[in-house]
Amino acid sequence: MSFDVESIRAQFPILKREIDGNPLIYLDNAATTQKPQCVIDSLVEYYSTYNSNVHRGAHRLADEATTRYEAARDRVAGFINARARQEVIWTSGTTEAINIVAHGLAKQLQPGDEVVVTEMEHHANIVTWQQACLSSGASLKVAPIFDSGELDQAAFEQLLNAKTRLVAFPHVSNSLGTVNPIVAMTAKAKAVGALVLIDGAQGIAHGGVDVQAIGCDFYAFSGHKMFGPTGVGVLWGRESLLAEWPVWQTGGEMISEVTYQGASWNTLPYRLEAGTPNIAGVIGLGAAIDWFSTLDLPGLQQHERALMAHATALATDFEGLRIVGQAPDKSGVLSFLMAGGHPADIGFLLDRQGIAIRTGHHCAEPLMHRLAVPGTARASFSLYTRIGEIDALFTALDKVKFMLA
Ligand code: PLP
Repeated sequence: MSFDVESIRAQFPILKREIDGNPLIYLDNAATTQKPQCVIDSLVEYYSTYNSNVHRGAHRLADEATTRYEAARDRVAGFINARARQEVIWTSGTTEAINIVAHGLAKQLQPGDEVVVTEMEHHANIVTWQQACLSSGASLKVAPIFDSGELDQAAFEQLLNAKTRLVAFPHVSNSLGTVNPIVAMTAKAKAVGALVLIDGAQGIAHGGVDVQAIGCDFYAFSGHKMFGPTGVGVLWGRESLLAEWPVWQTGGEMISEVTYQGASWNTLPYRLEAGTPNIAGVIGLGAAIDWFSTLDLPGLQQHERALMAHATALATDFEGLRIVGQAPDKSGVLSFLMAGGHPADIGFLLDRQGIAIRTGHHCAEPLMHRLAVPGTARASFSLYTRIGEIDALFTALDKVKFMLA
Protein backbone atom coordinates (compact mmCIF):
# COMPACT_ATOMS: atom_id res chain seq x y z
CA MET A 1 0.00 0.00 0.00
CA SER A 2 1.44 3.39 -0.83
CA PHE A 3 1.10 6.26 1.53
CA ASP A 4 1.06 9.70 -0.08
CA VAL A 5 3.66 11.54 1.98
CA GLU A 6 3.67 14.59 -0.30
CA SER A 7 -0.05 15.25 0.07
CA ILE A 8 0.36 14.91 3.84
CA ARG A 9 3.30 17.31 3.86
CA ALA A 10 1.34 19.89 1.90
CA GLN A 11 -0.95 20.21 4.92
CA PHE A 12 1.90 21.22 7.27
CA PRO A 13 2.88 24.85 6.59
CA ILE A 14 6.02 24.68 8.74
CA LEU A 15 7.54 22.01 6.50
CA LYS A 16 8.01 24.67 3.81
CA ARG A 17 10.44 26.56 6.05
CA GLU A 18 14.06 27.04 5.29
CA ILE A 19 16.89 27.26 7.79
CA ASP A 20 19.76 29.41 6.55
CA GLY A 21 18.81 28.64 2.96
CA ASN A 22 18.45 24.90 3.54
CA PRO A 23 15.06 23.22 3.45
CA LEU A 24 14.01 22.33 6.98
CA ILE A 25 14.39 18.63 7.69
CA TYR A 26 12.50 18.12 10.90
CA LEU A 27 13.63 14.98 12.69
CA ASP A 28 12.66 15.92 16.23
CA ASN A 29 9.19 14.43 16.25
CA ALA A 30 9.64 12.56 19.53
CA ALA A 31 10.01 15.97 21.20
CA THR A 32 6.95 17.39 19.47
CA THR A 33 5.19 16.86 16.17
CA GLN A 34 4.28 19.62 13.72
CA LYS A 35 0.68 20.73 13.24
CA PRO A 36 -1.44 20.44 10.12
CA GLN A 37 -3.22 23.56 8.87
CA CYS A 38 -6.62 22.28 10.05
CA VAL A 39 -5.38 22.15 13.66
CA ILE A 40 -3.95 25.66 13.39
CA ASP A 41 -7.23 26.82 11.83
CA SER A 42 -9.25 25.29 14.67
CA LEU A 43 -7.31 27.39 17.18
CA VAL A 44 -7.71 30.58 15.17
CA GLU A 45 -11.40 29.86 14.64
CA TYR A 46 -11.99 29.37 18.36
CA TYR A 47 -10.25 32.58 19.35
CA SER A 48 -11.67 34.63 16.51
CA THR A 49 -15.28 33.44 16.40
CA TYR A 50 -16.46 31.73 19.61
CA ASN A 51 -13.92 32.34 22.36
CA SER A 52 -15.75 31.78 25.63
CA ASN A 53 -15.48 29.83 28.84
CA VAL A 54 -17.09 26.39 28.87
CA HIS A 55 -19.98 24.95 30.90
CA ARG A 56 -20.82 28.23 32.60
CA GLY A 57 -22.26 30.78 30.22
CA ALA A 58 -25.87 31.43 29.34
CA HIS A 59 -24.98 32.70 25.89
CA ARG A 60 -24.34 31.54 22.35
CA LEU A 61 -20.55 31.66 22.45
CA ALA A 62 -20.42 29.62 25.65
CA ASP A 63 -22.76 27.07 24.11
CA GLU A 64 -20.63 26.79 20.99
CA ALA A 65 -17.38 26.50 22.95
CA THR A 66 -18.87 23.89 25.28
CA THR A 67 -20.24 21.84 22.40
CA ARG A 68 -16.91 21.81 20.56
CA TYR A 69 -14.95 21.19 23.75
CA GLU A 70 -17.08 18.23 24.79
CA ALA A 71 -17.16 16.90 21.22
CA ALA A 72 -13.38 16.63 21.42
CA ARG A 73 -13.77 14.38 24.44
CA ASP A 74 -16.00 12.09 22.36
CA ARG A 75 -13.35 12.10 19.63
CA VAL A 76 -10.65 10.99 22.07
CA ALA A 77 -12.92 8.35 23.60
CA GLY A 78 -13.58 6.92 20.13
CA PHE A 79 -9.96 7.19 19.07
CA ILE A 80 -8.66 5.05 21.93
CA ASN A 81 -11.81 2.93 22.25
CA ALA A 82 -12.67 4.05 25.78
CA ARG A 83 -15.78 2.44 27.23
CA ALA A 84 -17.21 5.85 28.10
CA ARG A 85 -16.47 9.53 27.55
CA GLN A 86 -16.25 10.00 31.35
CA GLU A 87 -13.02 8.03 31.22
CA VAL A 88 -11.28 10.82 29.29
CA ILE A 89 -9.76 13.42 31.62
CA TRP A 90 -8.16 16.53 30.14
CA THR A 91 -4.72 17.31 31.46
CA SER A 92 -1.90 19.60 30.41
CA GLY A 93 -0.03 16.60 28.99
CA THR A 94 1.37 13.16 29.78
CA THR A 95 3.27 14.55 32.75
CA GLU A 96 0.18 15.87 34.46
CA ALA A 97 -1.75 12.71 33.63
CA ILE A 98 0.87 10.56 35.36
CA ASN A 99 0.96 12.98 38.29
CA ILE A 100 -2.79 12.61 38.81
CA VAL A 101 -2.40 8.86 39.14
CA ALA A 102 0.76 9.03 41.26
CA HIS A 103 -0.72 11.64 43.59
CA GLY A 104 -3.80 9.49 44.13
CA LEU A 105 -1.82 6.29 44.49
CA ALA A 106 0.44 7.87 47.12
CA LYS A 107 -2.61 8.24 49.34
CA GLN A 108 -3.33 4.52 49.05
CA LEU A 109 0.17 3.04 49.25
CA GLN A 110 1.46 1.50 52.49
CA PRO A 111 5.00 0.69 53.60
CA GLY A 112 5.83 -2.68 52.05
CA ASP A 113 3.88 -1.97 48.87
CA GLU A 114 5.78 -1.89 45.59
CA VAL A 115 5.59 0.11 42.37
CA VAL A 116 7.35 -1.27 39.30
CA VAL A 117 8.76 0.78 36.42
CA THR A 118 11.40 -0.03 33.79
CA GLU A 119 14.93 1.08 33.04
CA MET A 120 13.77 2.91 29.90
CA GLU A 121 11.48 5.50 31.50
CA HIS A 122 11.18 9.19 30.75
CA HIS A 123 11.63 11.23 33.95
CA ALA A 124 7.87 11.83 34.00
CA ASN A 125 7.39 8.13 34.69
CA ILE A 126 10.15 7.91 37.30
CA VAL A 127 10.10 10.96 39.53
CA THR A 128 6.33 10.83 39.96
CA TRP A 129 6.46 7.28 41.39
CA GLN A 130 9.60 8.04 43.36
CA GLN A 131 7.71 10.82 45.11
CA ALA A 132 4.67 8.61 45.67
CA CYS A 133 6.92 5.97 47.24
CA LEU A 134 8.83 8.49 49.33
CA SER A 135 5.69 9.96 50.83
CA SER A 136 4.08 6.57 51.53
CA GLY A 137 6.98 4.31 52.48
CA ALA A 138 6.41 2.05 49.45
CA SER A 139 9.38 0.84 47.34
CA LEU A 140 10.15 1.53 43.71
CA LYS A 141 11.37 -1.48 41.72
CA VAL A 142 13.01 -1.15 38.32
CA ALA A 143 12.73 -3.83 35.65
CA PRO A 144 16.02 -4.12 33.72
CA ILE A 145 16.63 -3.86 30.01
CA PHE A 146 19.15 -5.71 27.87
CA ASP A 147 21.94 -3.71 26.22
CA SER A 148 19.80 -3.71 23.08
CA GLY A 149 17.21 -1.56 24.83
CA GLU A 150 14.68 -4.38 24.93
CA LEU A 151 13.00 -5.03 28.26
CA ASP A 152 14.07 -8.24 30.01
CA GLN A 153 10.62 -9.79 30.21
CA ALA A 154 11.67 -12.61 32.54
CA ALA A 155 13.19 -10.17 35.01
CA PHE A 156 10.10 -7.96 34.71
CA GLU A 157 7.89 -10.90 35.58
CA GLN A 158 10.07 -11.83 38.54
CA LEU A 159 9.58 -8.38 40.05
CA LEU A 160 5.81 -8.80 40.08
CA ASN A 161 4.20 -10.20 43.22
CA ALA A 162 1.33 -9.71 45.63
CA LYS A 163 2.97 -6.53 46.98
CA THR A 164 2.99 -4.88 43.54
CA ARG A 165 0.36 -2.15 43.59
CA LEU A 166 1.08 -0.46 40.28
CA VAL A 167 3.20 -1.14 37.21
CA ALA A 168 4.09 1.73 34.87
CA PHE A 169 5.93 1.46 31.57
CA PRO A 170 6.22 3.27 28.25
CA HIS A 171 4.35 2.14 25.17
CA VAL A 172 7.36 3.29 23.13
CA SER A 173 10.68 4.52 24.56
CA ASN A 174 11.34 8.14 23.65
CA SER A 175 15.11 7.66 23.78
CA LEU A 176 15.55 4.34 21.99
CA GLY A 177 12.33 3.75 20.09
CA THR A 178 11.79 0.35 21.75
CA VAL A 179 8.19 -0.76 21.36
CA ASN A 180 7.10 -2.69 24.44
CA PRO A 181 4.73 -5.66 24.21
CA ILE A 182 2.16 -3.73 26.21
CA VAL A 183 -0.65 -6.26 26.01
CA ALA A 184 1.50 -9.11 27.35
CA MET A 185 3.10 -6.88 30.02
CA THR A 186 -0.30 -5.65 31.13
CA ALA A 187 -1.57 -9.22 31.43
CA LYS A 188 1.43 -10.17 33.60
CA ALA A 189 0.87 -7.22 35.92
CA LYS A 190 -2.87 -7.82 36.13
CA ALA A 191 -2.19 -11.45 37.05
CA VAL A 192 -0.70 -10.28 40.37
CA GLY A 193 -3.53 -7.80 40.91
CA ALA A 194 -1.53 -4.65 40.14
CA LEU A 195 -2.83 -1.53 38.46
CA VAL A 196 -1.20 -0.74 35.11
CA LEU A 197 -0.36 2.71 33.76
CA ILE A 198 1.00 3.02 30.25
CA ASP A 199 2.96 6.13 29.31
CA GLY A 200 1.62 6.56 25.80
CA ALA A 201 3.45 9.81 24.97
CA GLN A 202 5.36 8.16 22.14
CA GLY A 203 2.83 5.48 21.28
CA ILE A 204 -0.25 7.48 20.49
CA ALA A 205 0.89 9.10 17.21
CA HIS A 206 1.41 5.73 15.54
CA GLY A 207 -2.31 4.97 15.79
CA GLY A 208 -4.20 1.86 16.74
CA VAL A 209 -4.31 2.36 20.52
CA ASP A 210 -7.26 0.43 21.95
CA VAL A 211 -7.31 0.74 25.72
CA GLN A 212 -9.88 -2.02 26.14
CA ALA A 213 -7.86 -4.46 24.06
CA ILE A 214 -4.68 -3.55 25.95
CA GLY A 215 -6.41 -4.21 29.26
CA CYS A 216 -4.53 -1.50 31.19
CA ASP A 217 -6.06 0.76 33.86
CA PHE A 218 -4.55 4.09 32.78
CA TYR A 219 -3.13 5.36 29.49
CA ALA A 220 -1.53 8.82 29.39
CA PHE A 221 -0.63 10.93 26.36
CA SER A 222 0.06 14.47 25.15
CA GLY A 223 -1.70 16.33 22.35
CA HIS A 224 1.47 17.92 21.01
CA LYS A 225 3.05 14.56 20.20
CA MET A 226 0.15 13.65 17.94
CA PHE A 227 -0.19 16.76 15.75
CA GLY A 228 -2.25 18.70 18.31
CA PRO A 229 -1.41 21.77 20.38
CA THR A 230 0.94 21.94 23.36
CA GLY A 231 -0.46 22.23 26.88
CA VAL A 232 -3.18 19.64 26.46
CA GLY A 233 -3.17 15.92 27.08
CA VAL A 234 -5.26 13.03 28.27
CA LEU A 235 -5.47 10.72 31.20
CA TRP A 236 -7.62 7.79 30.22
CA GLY A 237 -8.61 5.60 33.16
CA ARG A 238 -11.19 2.96 33.95
CA GLU A 239 -14.37 4.66 35.08
CA SER A 240 -14.63 2.53 38.25
CA LEU A 241 -11.15 3.66 39.32
CA LEU A 242 -11.42 7.31 38.34
CA ALA A 243 -14.79 7.69 40.04
CA GLU A 244 -13.10 7.00 43.40
CA TRP A 245 -9.65 8.37 42.63
CA PRO A 246 -8.43 11.03 45.10
CA VAL A 247 -9.12 14.43 43.61
CA TRP A 248 -6.16 16.16 42.04
CA GLN A 249 -6.49 19.94 42.02
CA THR A 250 -9.41 21.53 43.82
CA GLY A 251 -11.39 24.61 42.80
CA GLY A 252 -14.09 25.49 40.32
CA GLU A 253 -15.71 22.91 38.00
CA MET A 254 -14.60 19.86 40.01
CA ILE A 255 -17.09 20.49 42.82
CA SER A 256 -20.71 19.58 43.27
CA GLU A 257 -21.54 21.73 46.32
CA VAL A 258 -19.46 24.14 48.36
CA THR A 259 -20.03 25.71 51.77
CA TYR A 260 -17.48 27.20 54.11
CA GLN A 261 -17.72 23.98 56.06
CA GLY A 262 -16.75 21.72 53.19
CA ALA A 263 -17.27 20.64 49.62
CA SER A 264 -18.44 17.63 47.67
CA TRP A 265 -17.05 16.54 44.34
CA ASN A 266 -18.53 16.57 40.88
CA THR A 267 -19.02 13.42 38.84
CA LEU A 268 -16.57 12.22 36.19
CA PRO A 269 -14.88 13.53 34.17
CA TYR A 270 -15.14 16.93 35.89
CA ARG A 271 -14.09 15.82 39.38
CA LEU A 272 -10.52 15.52 38.10
CA GLU A 273 -10.57 18.76 36.06
CA ALA A 274 -10.35 21.87 38.23
CA GLY A 275 -10.52 25.43 36.90
CA THR A 276 -10.82 26.82 33.41
CA PRO A 277 -9.29 24.23 31.09
CA ASN A 278 -7.16 24.71 28.00
CA ILE A 279 -10.25 25.10 25.82
CA ALA A 280 -8.42 25.99 22.61
CA GLY A 281 -5.98 23.15 23.20
CA VAL A 282 -8.77 20.63 23.69
CA ILE A 283 -10.54 21.80 20.53
CA GLY A 284 -7.23 21.68 18.64
CA LEU A 285 -6.61 18.14 19.88
CA GLY A 286 -10.09 17.19 18.66
CA ALA A 287 -9.17 18.62 15.25
CA ALA A 288 -5.91 16.66 15.27
CA ILE A 289 -7.78 13.43 15.95
CA ASP A 290 -10.31 14.19 13.22
CA TRP A 291 -7.42 14.77 10.85
CA PHE A 292 -5.49 11.68 11.91
CA SER A 293 -8.59 9.54 11.60
CA THR A 294 -8.83 10.34 7.87
CA LEU A 295 -5.40 8.80 7.21
CA ASP A 296 -4.76 5.37 5.82
CA LEU A 297 -3.55 3.74 9.04
CA PRO A 298 -1.99 0.57 7.59
CA GLY A 299 -0.28 2.68 4.90
CA LEU A 300 0.98 5.11 7.51
CA GLN A 301 2.34 2.34 9.71
CA GLN A 302 4.02 0.73 6.74
CA HIS A 303 5.61 4.07 5.82
CA GLU A 304 6.89 4.49 9.38
CA ARG A 305 8.35 0.99 9.34
CA ALA A 306 10.05 1.73 6.02
CA LEU A 307 11.57 4.92 7.48
CA MET A 308 12.91 3.01 10.47
CA ALA A 309 14.30 0.20 8.33
CA HIS A 310 15.97 2.63 5.92
CA ALA A 311 17.51 4.70 8.71
CA THR A 312 18.75 1.58 10.48
CA ALA A 313 20.31 0.20 7.30
CA LEU A 314 22.12 3.48 6.56
CA ALA A 315 23.24 3.84 10.17
CA THR A 316 24.54 0.27 10.28
CA ASP A 317 26.69 0.92 7.21
CA PHE A 318 27.97 4.29 8.42
CA GLU A 319 31.53 3.95 9.64
CA GLY A 320 32.13 5.34 13.11
CA LEU A 321 28.45 5.50 13.99
CA ARG A 322 26.96 3.42 16.78
CA ILE A 323 23.23 2.91 17.07
CA VAL A 324 22.05 3.14 20.67
CA GLY A 325 19.04 0.89 21.09
CA GLN A 326 18.59 -2.05 18.76
CA ALA A 327 15.51 -3.77 20.12
CA PRO A 328 13.82 -6.03 17.55
CA ASP A 329 10.66 -3.91 17.64
CA LYS A 330 11.43 -0.21 17.24
CA SER A 331 9.42 2.75 16.15
CA GLY A 332 10.23 6.26 15.02
CA VAL A 333 13.54 6.83 16.80
CA LEU A 334 17.18 6.45 15.77
CA SER A 335 19.50 7.24 18.67
CA PHE A 336 23.18 7.20 17.88
CA LEU A 337 26.71 8.22 18.78
CA MET A 338 29.57 9.11 16.45
CA ALA A 339 33.22 8.49 17.11
CA GLY A 340 35.01 11.71 17.98
CA GLY A 341 31.86 13.80 18.34
CA HIS A 342 29.81 14.71 21.36
CA PRO A 343 26.07 14.48 20.61
CA ALA A 344 25.75 18.23 21.18
CA ASP A 345 28.32 18.90 18.43
CA ILE A 346 26.48 16.58 16.06
CA GLY A 347 23.22 18.41 16.74
CA PHE A 348 24.84 21.79 16.20
CA LEU A 349 26.50 20.77 12.93
CA LEU A 350 23.29 19.21 11.61
CA ASP A 351 21.34 22.33 12.49
CA ARG A 352 23.75 24.33 10.32
CA GLN A 353 22.52 22.15 7.46
CA GLY A 354 18.84 22.64 8.24
CA ILE A 355 18.38 19.32 10.04
CA ALA A 356 16.62 19.38 13.40
CA ILE A 357 17.39 16.52 15.76
CA ARG A 358 17.59 16.34 19.53
CA THR A 359 20.68 15.66 21.60
CA GLY A 360 21.25 14.93 25.28
CA HIS A 361 19.70 12.58 27.79
CA HIS A 362 16.15 12.95 26.44
CA CYS A 363 14.74 13.24 29.98
CA ALA A 364 15.95 9.71 30.64
CA GLU A 365 19.11 10.17 32.69
CA PRO A 366 18.96 6.78 34.44
CA LEU A 367 18.70 5.09 31.04
CA MET A 368 21.79 6.93 29.80
CA HIS A 369 23.65 5.79 32.93
CA ARG A 370 22.49 2.22 32.37
CA LEU A 371 23.80 2.31 28.80
CA ALA A 372 26.97 4.14 29.89
CA VAL A 373 26.54 6.91 27.35
CA PRO A 374 26.71 10.67 27.97
CA GLY A 375 23.52 11.13 25.98
CA THR A 376 22.75 10.47 22.34
CA ALA A 377 21.95 12.22 19.11
CA ARG A 378 18.35 11.32 18.32
CA ALA A 379 16.66 11.56 14.95
CA SER A 380 12.94 10.88 15.26
CA PHE A 381 10.57 10.45 12.38
CA SER A 382 6.91 11.04 11.75
CA LEU A 383 4.39 10.20 9.09
CA TYR A 384 5.42 13.26 7.03
CA THR A 385 9.11 12.30 6.98
CA ARG A 386 10.38 11.52 3.49
CA ILE A 387 12.70 8.62 2.81
CA GLY A 388 14.82 11.24 1.02
CA GLU A 389 15.15 13.18 4.27
CA ILE A 390 16.77 10.16 5.90
CA ASP A 391 19.21 10.06 2.98
CA ALA A 392 19.86 13.76 3.53
CA LEU A 393 20.54 13.12 7.22
CA PHE A 394 23.29 10.66 6.36
CA THR A 395 24.77 12.91 3.68
CA ALA A 396 24.88 15.65 6.32
CA LEU A 397 26.43 13.24 8.82
CA ASP A 398 29.20 12.59 6.30
CA LYS A 399 29.98 16.30 6.45
CA VAL A 400 29.75 16.25 10.24
CA LYS A 401 32.24 13.41 10.31
CA PHE A 402 34.59 15.40 8.10
CA MET A 403 34.24 18.49 10.28
CA LEU A 404 34.86 16.51 13.46
CA ALA A 405 37.93 14.77 12.10
N1 PLP B 1 6.84 10.19 28.53
C1 PLP B 1 7.51 10.06 27.38
C2 PLP B 1 7.88 8.69 26.90
C3 PLP B 1 7.85 11.18 26.64
O1 PLP B 1 8.52 11.06 25.50
C4 PLP B 1 7.49 12.46 27.12
C5 PLP B 1 7.89 13.67 26.40
O2 PLP B 1 8.88 13.69 25.72
C6 PLP B 1 6.75 12.54 28.32
C7 PLP B 1 6.45 11.38 28.99
C8 PLP B 1 6.29 13.84 28.86
O3 PLP B 1 5.40 14.44 27.98
P1 PLP B 1 4.90 15.93 28.21
O4 PLP B 1 6.15 16.75 28.39
O5 PLP B 1 4.15 16.28 26.97
O6 PLP B 1 4.07 15.94 29.43
